Amino acid sequence: MTDAPNPLLAPPALPYDLPPYGSIRPEHYRPAFRAGIAAHRAEVEAITAQAEPPTFENTLVALESSGELLGRVSRTFYTVTGADGTAEIQAIEEELAPLMAAHRDAVQLDAALFARVAAVHAQLDDLGLDAESRYLVERHHREMSLAGAGLDDTQKARLTDLNQRLSVLTNAFEKNLLADTNDLAVVFDTAAELDGLSDGELSAAAQAATSRGLDGRYVITLTLYTGHPLLASLTNRESRRRLLQASRARASRGNENDNRAVLRDIVRVRAERAALLGYPSHAAAILADQTAGSPHAVHEMLRRLAVPAAANARSEQEALQRIADADGIRIDAHDWAFYTEKVRAAEYDLDRAALRPWFEAERVLRDGVFFAAGQLYGIRMTERHDLQGYHPDVRVFEAHNADGSELGLFLLDLYTRDTKRGGAWMNAIVTQSELRGTAPVVVNNLNVNKPAPGTPTLLTLDEVTTLFHEFGHALHGLFATVTYPHFAGTAVHRDFVEFPSQVNEMWILWPEILTHYARHIDTDEPLPADVVERLHASEAFNQGFATSEYLAASWIDQAWHSLSIDEAAADIDVAGFEAAALADIGLDNPAVPTRYSSTYFAHVFSGGYSAGYYSYIWSEVLDADTVEWFRENGGLTRANGDRFRNRLLGVGGSGDPLAAYRDFRGRDADIQPLLERRGLAG
Ligand SMILES: [Zn+2]
Repeated sequence: MTDAPNPLLAPPALPYDLPPYGSIRPEHYRPAFRAGIAAHRAEVEAITAQAEPPTFENTLVALESSGELLGRVSRTFYTVTGADGTAEIQAIEEELAPLMAAHRDAVQLDAALFARVAAVHAQLDDLGLDAESRYLVERHHREMSLAGAGLDDTQKARLTDLNQRLSVLTNAFEKNLLADTNDLAVVFDTAAELDGLSDGELSAAAQAATSRGLDGRYVITLTLYTGHPLLASLTNRESRRRLLQASRARASRGNENDNRAVLRDIVRVRAERAALLGYPSHAAAILADQTAGSPHAVHEMLRRLAVPAAANARSEQEALQRIADADGIRIDAHDWAFYTEKVRAAEYDLDRAALRPWFEAERVLRDGVFFAAGQLYGIRMTERHDLQGYHPDVRVFEAHNADGSELGLFLLDLYTRDTKRGGAWMNAIVTQSELRGTAPVVVNNLNVNKPAPGTPTLLTLDEVTTLFHEFGHALHGLFATVTYPHFAGTAVHRDFVEFPSQVNEMWILWPEILTHYARHIDTDEPLPADVVERLHASEAFNQGFATSEYLAASWIDQAWHSLSIDEAAADIDVAGFEAAALADIGLDNPAVPTRYSSTYFAHVFSGGYSAGYYSYIWSEVLDADTVEWFRENGGLTRANGDRFRNRLLGVGGSGDPLAAYRDFRGRDADIQPLLERRGLAG
């Protein structure tokens, strides 16, 4: 041990309060969290100990000013757990989880604090507050109420019990799923059974076998989705059948990893918790605090979309069947992706893999993603080689406004590594707030394979899409102009947060942007016009299937979480329940399975998306309607960008999101553009 001070406890000294990652070591986190929790606790106690009657200043503003150290340490740490979660970091995270949960409960359920917030809330109309301050009172009051702060002591004890049971159950769900996913990896004896895979995919399968002590054989590991990506290329039908069967069997085989009883218990505990809080179901409790407002609104929308989506999937199936007839095959679920690729090649003459030389990562970033933001919002991105992230691969950029004023920092962590979780995401390391005088620092994480040293990174079109998407979240964070940290940037409702990032995807194929960044790595030639045309033409391709499998999963999520406490008490047969729910909404075509079945639906049983999987398509309504607005108003212009930035992105969560949308759009969102985009308009 040395006596060197803990860098996490020192006041921020780097530009934009960037954490001093270069000098932070794992052992600094525990004491910093302990100090942060103690400081926050003391600050909250100081608020409740005041003799003065509750006011907006001495209660709400004080609450917003509290927890500065804990917030800083948390954001510094949880950035690293996701992107570079070494065993040492994971152990710290596991140890901290119950401490952090208990601390959150202690603040959220603090009776004295809630009494003060409620007292301010009761006089809301007489306080003469500005709109954002007024909304702050409403939000804190609602969030604490939903957490159970208004319950009596007996009820609170019951609630804490339920929360603890739930955390044990969701951990069990996750653990069972992981174990069964590993157990069900499919073993193949010969390379012939894997015909259709690339050399790289085949050698990865051989390596996976070796690492399991199965030298000379091949192992395909399962992904989270029902539909495995390799189903599109495997020519051997029996191999496809085995792979899909394994995927769908996860955590439902009656062994020690079975999740059926676990998820029934999760549903019961959630229903009981909702009843305790005064709601008829878990979905009702969750949706009360979303832009959707109620299960009714969500169910109505899902039903409306399901009918045309299922019809489109049936026509797609007929087209697949015409090709499969030549092979003497009736299209089954495990054949769908394989024949879809044949139809795609035949109808659109499009080999998506061959596009990579046009998507060199640096060019996509600077001449695509940054260039589009410059055209729209006037911002300039400059790399700061003097600043350092949490890993050598992380790059730091400084964002400036058109007038030269400072905006914030943007960190990019492009490459995959063993210590990074899957997928892509954005998070804030510092959130913008006038009250605290902070400017935003945000990071984008992707999982692009790192090329050999000295060779360029060539992206797939999907990766290009992800880069634009995540930068849309980054802009939401960078453009925040709120007073209170509670509202900064992406701190909006879950069914609203994907909307700005989805909108940013519209510039990928926008002519002025595309010709600027999609240049061939060797020849500098733009993407040929006929290829661009085919990309546009194929946009609605296979959308019947994609929409149906997504809606099916959303509906299963709603069905479980709409159960009342009495309904959930019954001994429900999981497979039967799921089948009945899908038949009820007309999404029971056996060739189009749900994207997730209940026993492996981690988003809603162990992740944060319970009663919320509908969110993606809910926010896509706003996205499609906004794309329409940009088109109607001349597309890529500073005037359009500034309007979107000022009226929508900048306000973050500081007001009613649908009111912000109305202010930007001039009316409520219309679902028609979404129906047209997905070929559901009829
Ligand atoms: Zn997103």
